[in-house]
Amino acid sequence: MREFNGVAGQVDGGRLWRRLMQMAEIGAIPGNGVNRQALSEEDIAARELLIDWARRRGYAVAVDEAANLFVRRPGSEPDLPPVLTGSHMDSQPRGGRFDGIYGVIAGLEAIEALDDAGTATRRPIELVAWTNEEGSRFDPGCMGSMVFSGTAPLERFEDAVDTDGISFGRALSRTLGATPDLPRRRETIPPAAYVEAHIEQGPVLEAAEVTIGAVTGVQGSQRFVVEVDGATAHAGTTPVRGRRDALQAALRAVARLNETMADPNDVLRFTVGRFEVEPNSPNTVPSRVRFSIDLRHPDGWELDRRARRIPRVCENAALPCSVRISRTFDQRPVAFESGIVETIERSAAAIDQPSLRIPSGANHDAAFVAKVSPTAMIFIPCLRGVSHHESEYASPEDCAAGARVLAETVRTLADS
Ligand SMILES: [Zn+2]
Repeated sequence: MREFNGVAGQVDGGRLWRRLMQMAEIGAIPGNGVNRQALSEEDIAARELLIDWARRRGYAVAVDEAANLFVRRPGSEPDLPPVLTGSHMDSQPRGGRFDGIYGVIAGLEAIEALDDAGTATRRPIELVAWTNEEGSRFDPGCMGSMVFSGTAPLERFEDAVDTDGISFGRALSRTLGATPDLPRRRETIPPAAYVEAHIEQGPVLEAAEVTIGAVTGVQGSQRFVVEVDGATAHAGTTPVRGRRDALQAALRAVARLNETMADPNDVLRFTVGRFEVEPNSPNTVPSRVRFSIDLRHPDGWELDRRARRIPRVCENAALPCSVRISRTFDQRPVAFESGIVETIERSAAAIDQPSLRIPSGANHDAAFVAKVSPTAMIFIPCLRGVSHHESEYASPEDCAAGARVLAETVRTLADS
């Protein structure tokens, strides 16, 4: 077992793992998963457990109007903007034990390690647990970080309802009411920096056999719906030559799109995930097909360049059918602050932990916090890249390594 100096040496991998497993009991479902959706009974229980851990260590806890939870470790210059770290505690309905919660518990471990090492920092360090990152119970996700960053006012989300007809506003009041003694923050001070630790939710680190991902940003994504209109006809009586077969046209369009979206570097993500055929009858020539396109790339210019080709490619390939295309979603890529990415790399190198620069394929609260503060993320590998599933797994060793790098990174940022 390797010995580490300083703050990294005080990161207690056993304590971190025990807390992860204790949290995983809240909302546990068969197959090692958790169902701890935003503002549910389980989410409230998880918040109470985190508050208990924080208070036992003497940290002050506060909450804001969106029920984002803040745990504060003081700095020697208390008026300086804090360094913020954390993630989310809510899960998908059939989620895993690491998505989100890992970053919260690793953040707590980092500040406790600073105290255990007797290390004071100039800036205060705050741990945050964002409200409703997943968006599975109340759509959209990342509500807490959107409110915090001024991306959207809280009022915009209050009427969102879950499948039981309960509104976000009502669930939020219940959650805030469950911890009535928490001081309420009225104003938001942009932090000096934000660092979020998270499982990768993809296979890149595992394949590269590297434990630390220094995340360079969150890729942009666009979604489209393509509608191909042809003409219905009898499968037995209508010669093929005269048909306007919408399914054959759509297949030609997808084949051409695959060629157009080819990327030798395998960075561009092109997915056709939904295909609807009308009338969907075995002995009728299809009259209409609707299919989806999901397109993602870390570079906004490249994303737009590829997306612009979609209409022409589809129209030409689908002839003699006609095509209508609508863009249903457009999220710009987010580039994280290179100085913080470098701090993560240096922190990893300081404890002889190789790191790899990677973009994030999934969206995160960090993408919104990046609008108001210098931000970056630390990824650790997860088994076979599986996430949003009961079998999601990250090893105790990798969880501890990520927390060590986080602790070193936060210490450096809090002294700058
Ligand atoms: Zn997450």
